[in-house]
Amino acid sequence: MKYAVIDRGDTLSQSLAEQFHQLAKERGFIRNDEMPDIVVSIGGDGTLLQAFHRYFEQVADVSFVGIHTGHLGFYADWQANELHELVTMMAEQTPQIVRYPLAEIQVETPEHCFKYLALNEFTLKGVDATLVVQINVNDELFEMFRGDGIVISTPSGSTAYNKSVGGAIVHPYIESLQIAEIASINNRVYRTLGSSLLLPAHHHCDIISKKEQRLLLTIDHLSIQRSDIHSIRCSVGTKKVSFARYRPLPFWKRVRDAFIDI
Ligand code: NAD
Repeated sequence: MKYAVIDRGDTLSQSLAEQFHQLAKERGFIRNDEMPDIVVSIGGDGTLLQAFHRYFEQVADVSFVGIHTGHLGFYADWQANELHELVTMMAEQTPQIVRYPLAEIQVETPEHCFKYLALNEFTLKGVDATLVVQINVNDELFEMFRGDGIVISTPSGSTAYNKSVGGAIVHPYIESLQIAEIASINNRVYRTLGSSLLLPAHHHCDIISKKEQRLLLTIDHLSIQRSDIHSIRCSVGTKKVSFARYRPLPFWKRVRDAFIDI
């Protein structure tokens, strides 16, 4: 098995990464940072997002495993004290590969077209003023949005930023994109749907900037500022992200453990 490790950079995560390399060597795993089969992320959900973006071009060929060194994570579900158990299972078991949908965006500027994939979500906000954009669904005008921003999340990202803005939690087996509003302006002049909506895999939405405005686009933990974005096409990605499961981890149990069972 070819593997790579991405750690958060703090002392505990770095020390666990060293222990992992030692145990992996004893088991005959091959360290290969360029073309791994399995990427082990040690830190938190943010570390797994970093690992995903480090390997997103090979997303069809790699599986991720997350070890958390802080509080329980959504993607990082192994605890630091379970490192030996994890390595043993990696050596002795064939994992179940669980595939989750991703979100894809195509950003159009007068000069270029950029494509990005997100594991959690994209967000769009105005930098200097209220965000003003037209939203089309399947090439038909849906609404004119005015407000703080828009969150476009994947099902596995629905428990992250999307949840904070009142979006629904979506099981990752439902191939969809969720569009949620951040503080939209609704009055006698401006009107938006006011609730989040779920697009199925074969639908798309376009966010069209009708005026020159500086926009802040975030892609998971990454952010970009541009004044020349004309439109952003959003759809469920054609590729999925794979997680290697060495023991069952029901999604609803994770939701309960993270948000209810305190
Ligand atoms: P961070 O360190 O501020 O992490 C934010 C929190 O989000 C952490 O507690 C992390 O465990 C949690 N998180 C990440 N992915 C999750 C998921 N799929 N389900 C449930 N919780 C999840 O920032 P970061 O490490 O750079 O992570 C970036 C993520 O932070 C973004 O993808 C976004 O979802 C989230 N975020 C949330 C808010 C908000 O809730 N208001 C604001 C900004 C960013």
